[in-house]
Amino acid sequence: MKLRSIYIPFFFIASFPIVLCAQQKSVFDPLPRARIIIDSLCSPDMHGRGYVMNGDKQAARYLEREYKQLGLKFFRTQYFQEFNFPVNTFPGKINFDLKLKKFDIDVSPGEDYIIGSNSPSIKGEYKVVLFDSLTTRSKKSLKKFKRNNFSDKFILVNLSGIREKDRQKVMEDARENPYGAKGIIVATDKLTWSVSQKAASFPTIETKTYGYEKMKSIEGIRIQVENKYIPDYRSQNVIGYIEGSQHPDSFIVFSAHYDHLGRMGKDVYFPGANDNASGCAMLLNLAAWYSKPENKPNYSIAFFAFTGEEAGLLGSKYYTEHPFFPLSKIKFLVNLDILGTGDEGITVVNGTMHKEEFGALQKLNSEKKYLPEVKLRGKAANSDHYPFDEKGVKTFFIYTLGGIKAYHDIYDKAETLPLTKFSELFGLLCDFSTYLQQ
Ligand SMILES: [Zn+2]
Repeated sequence: MKLRSIYIPFFFIASFPIVLCAQQKSVFDPLPRARIIIDSLCSPDMHGRGYVMNGDKQAARYLEREYKQLGLKFFRTQYFQEFNFPVNTFPGKINFDLKLKKFDIDVSPGEDYIIGSNSPSIKGEYKVVLFDSLTTRSKKSLKKFKRNNFSDKFILVNLSGIREKDRQKVMEDARENPYGAKGIIVATDKLTWSVSQKAASFPTIETKTYGYEKMKSIEGIRIQVENKYIPDYRSQNVIGYIEGSQHPDSFIVFSAHYDHLGRMGKDVYFPGANDNASGCAMLLNLAAWYSKPENKPNYSIAFFAFTGEEAGLLGSKYYTEHPFFPLSKIKFLVNLDILGTGDEGITVVNGTMHKEEFGALQKLNSEKKYLPEVKLRGKAANSDHYPFDEKGVKTFFIYTLGGIKAYHDIYDKAETLPLTKFSELFGLLCDFSTYLQQ
């Protein structure tokens, strides 16, 4: 890892990190603002920025207030771009217990189990049939497994004994519920939640694994899930801009999704600090920087905060189909998602497609020694840049590498998000934006 060397007076170095952009005349430290934004977006009042208790709307209103305070302009009549989409939610009761022959296990939601995001409501006690590496070892054992009447039983798929490279496939197959079981339980070391636009006909649960003896002794479960399927949930993108002094009709765009996974029942919410309060914090810092009169850009700079990313890139898709100005007027779009670490640098999705811009980004980074590495990656449909890319807009998606591994779980918290290279990345983005303005 290279050391940072930014031209700042040495007595500043020890006290707090400062980043100087190319044309910067004053000192601007993005970290304090980032901390406040991330703490706010991850607070329990935001309910995980999903579709229970208006989490998405709370977050959108917060962004709206910030835009207003910074004096961003809006297109048409307001910052919001509203639209509807279907979503499966869990505002009600969630209970789940494992019943073991010889052991007692206490399980708590989020920590030890999660309810599959497409699960329907269910309540009752059910027997469990174990499916593990031994089930497929011989024809005889598989035959024995298949002899079960699954219609009132759950299948418990234990991934721990299954070879690592086969796990994904086994999990995907199990989720199809080929034997028509009452429900599916997958025991795995890494619980990850998501958002579903559909409600399935049977529930899926992920639990932690408990070691061979305990797994073997699981006899049954007690379960209660209350889902609420909303066919036309109304949510909103939050969009503002700063007018350019020389080319007001041409835009550089920074985007970040503000939604996350929301709530799983009454007691559990997913804060989504890295994913993607961190990106929103960068977006608002860039907006704060460019809203200073001395930093007024040549080209207009727009800020797109998207909803519905976790439900399937819905906000960005909707925007590309209903743009506020012609998409051809976007000079370049930089999508920011997962910016909370950076110990090992950043990855630039679409870097292979826009070699010139990628070269410039790398050059700026090595000149200023911001990040240890700027990695190249090809096309990928993994965040909100993608719908723009599909419409022919030049775009990069930037995410940070290294550090904490919390992802789509209850541990992606504001308190533990390190923001290791946040200031450096802010500097790089400012410099890249300056490069794009030429
Ligand atoms: Zn994300």
